[in-house]
Amino acid sequence: MLVNKNTYQEIGKDLNQKNVTLVAVSKTKPVEAIQELYELGQRDFGENYVQELIDKQSKMPSDIRWHFIGHLQSNKVKYIAPFVHLIHGVDSYKLLKEINKQGEKQGRVIDVLMQIHIAQEETKFGLDSKELEEVITQSGIDQLKNVRIRGLMGMASFSDDQTLVRREFQYLRSLFNKYNSNLPMFTILSMGMSGDYQLAVEEGSTMVRIGSLLFGARNYQQ
Ligand SMILES: *Cc1c(COP(=O)(O)O)cnc(C)c1O
Repeated sequence: MLVNKNTYQEIGKDLNQKNVTLVAVSKTKPVEAIQELYELGQRDFGENYVQELIDKQSKMPSDIRWHFIGHLQSNKVKYIAPFVHLIHGVDSYKLLKEINKQGEKQGRVIDVLMQIHIAQEETKFGLDSKELEEVITQSGIDQLKNVRIRGLMGMASFSDDQTLVRREFQYLRSLFNKYNSNLPMFTILSMGMSGDYQLAVEEGSTMVRIGSLLFGARNYQQ
């Protein structure tokens, strides 16, 4: 058994009742593990590395919705543009433009989330509120017909301090609300991982990205 089926069923049921989408983060895990969850009905899977994603996508059923949740380099957009369901980590206008360009080539509109830096750690990618505002109000953004900003994504601090983590999620939610009320397609708030998804859901997450709770610990961290 490559996945924790009971955990999957419990988490899945709970999230389903709350209308929260579960993205099963399968990075570093074999396609056999993805297949096990697929057979239980899971369709949303998340990957961090472009090469690994295209490799797995080519081997798995075509009705899987693949989420790219890692840091995406502009020169790699073209490889995932033909099939990717949602790109979670967009953090520049330049990347948005490249996604639009590749979307146009594929005749697709590609959905993305803007990544916001909410954690205390320096290393995490993402925009602050001012940079987000700059991207969203860029002149010319209306011309990008093949990319669609669907909401925000963020990662809280890796910390046992629940007050801190909760505050970070609350901040992201408030930023999300600011745009959600004016933009009709801006409806996805991706926040919460194995260690903090319950807090994230309490604070208004609409999409959680869960890996190790479902698939067990990974051999290497990312
Ligand atoms: C790896 C990863 C996850 C899943 O992490 P777990 O702690 O294993 O649930 C979620 N989001 C991002 C962006 C990740 O890189």
